[in-house]
Amino acid sequence: MDAEIIIVGAGPAGSTCARLLAQRRRSVLLLDRARFPRDKPCGGWVNLKVFQDFPELEKLRAANAARRTFVDERFHGIVFHSPDLAREAAFTSRSATGYLVRRKEFDHFLLAQAAAAGARFLPRHDVTALDAGEQEVTLTAHNRRFTCQVVVAADGADSTVARLAGLTRGWPAERRINCAYQEIKLDPRTVTRLYGSQRRLHVSLGYGGLSGYAWAFPKHASVNLGLGCRADRPGDPKTLFAQWAADLERIGLLPAKCRLPAPVLSMVPAGGAIDYEGHVGKRVVLVGDAGGFVSAATGEGIYPAMLSARVAAECIDDALRAPRPQDALTEFKFAWRRRFAAYIQRPDANLAFLVPLIYDNPELCNRFARMYLFGETF
Ligand SMILES: Cc1cc2nc3c(=O)[nH]c(=O)nc-3n(C[C@H](O)[C@H](O)[C@H](O)COP(=O)(O)OP(=O)(O)OC[C@H]3O[C@@H](n4cnc5c(N)ncnc54)[C@H](O)[C@@H]3O)c2cc1C
Repeated sequence: MDAEIIIVGAGPAGSTCARLLAQRRRSVLLLDRARFPRDKPCGGWVNLKVFQDFPELEKLRAANAARRTFVDERFHGIVFHSPDLAREAAFTSRSATGYLVRRKEFDHFLLAQAAAAGARFLPRHDVTALDAGEQEVTLTAHNRRFTCQVVVAADGADSTVARLAGLTRGWPAERRINCAYQEIKLDPRTVTRLYGSQRRLHVSLGYGGLSGYAWAFPKHASVNLGLGCRADRPGDPKTLFAQWAADLERIGLLPAKCRLPAPVLSMVPAGGAIDYEGHVGKRVVLVGDAGGFVSAATGEGIYPAMLSARVAAECIDDALRAPRPQDALTEFKFAWRRRFAAYIQRPDANLAFLVPLIYDNPELCNRFARMYLFGETF
């Protein structure tokens, strides 16, 4: 047997699961098709709650803050723009309300923590086959076969492992948010001139008639801009991207004549986990985007990925001690719902009615901002 647990995918879900299992003295092998450091389509906003819920990471964040090797920038609130950008409403805080990261560095850092805890990592191992038996699972990657007791699918929104295990046929259109984004490198002084030294997120809800939103996230030396839209509703983020950039330039949030590469297209399974029942297969558990652990309201996936990884690590550790591991593994299906289903569910409020009111009502704006940033009820 190559390891007790093989984790496929070394994003935030996979690396967190690997670290937590290795810290429980489990033998863990982490496989990823990419060479690290690697990039990942993302806005790079990391919820403040990551560092509250994982205090060990808060220590590392503080220790590496000056070098920006883990977290790139902190931010102090959010500015909401109306769909035509004519109106805005701001929520500002003196203390940090969240962080911005460059995924290349952030994911590499989390992976290094997993390796330091004892997980073995093999890059450039694209998993292409899976055979789950009663006692063990065999995976094929890079023309090699690997056996283990449990496989964790942490291989992203279009999970190969979930498909090979017969656990998914793809996310329904109402759960798929199609995104177009790009990150523009700028001089840090330019970012400060445009956004201020205390960065805030900028979001336009329903921009250009989208059933979704457009964003501009100012980091230390770059601005990440993009749009996301439900796949079952009208609106094409790709075609709106140039207009969003031009509008940002017009309202002074991008420098004039900024050179803009074509947007990167990607998809996020927002709220996918909620009406999905296939998180556990025969000795296989799905975490992160692979399991649809993404906020339905915002498309935020890093924090939910890490939460799902922690619950999975606990269930797997218990299962490997249990007389019937498969029964114990199934507990993951219930445990994640008990622990954090409320966080990824759409708020039980009439957002179509309430959102237009935030531009006139500061209290409503604060509540909406706290929902967006921290998942609080609205
Ligand atoms: C445009 C966009 C913007 C976003 N912005 C934000 C944001 O600002 N904040 C936020 O919280 N969330 C954001 N998200 C969501 C967030 O990026 C994801 O939810 C998060 O990355 C999920 O982490 P993960 O570990 O599950 O998967 P991933 O980060 O996707 O990692 C999966 C890993 O699996 C590997 N892999 C895939 N297939 C295989 C295979 N067959 N064999 C081996 N390895 C494989 C990949 O190489 C990759 O390293 C955004 C998403 C998009 C698309």
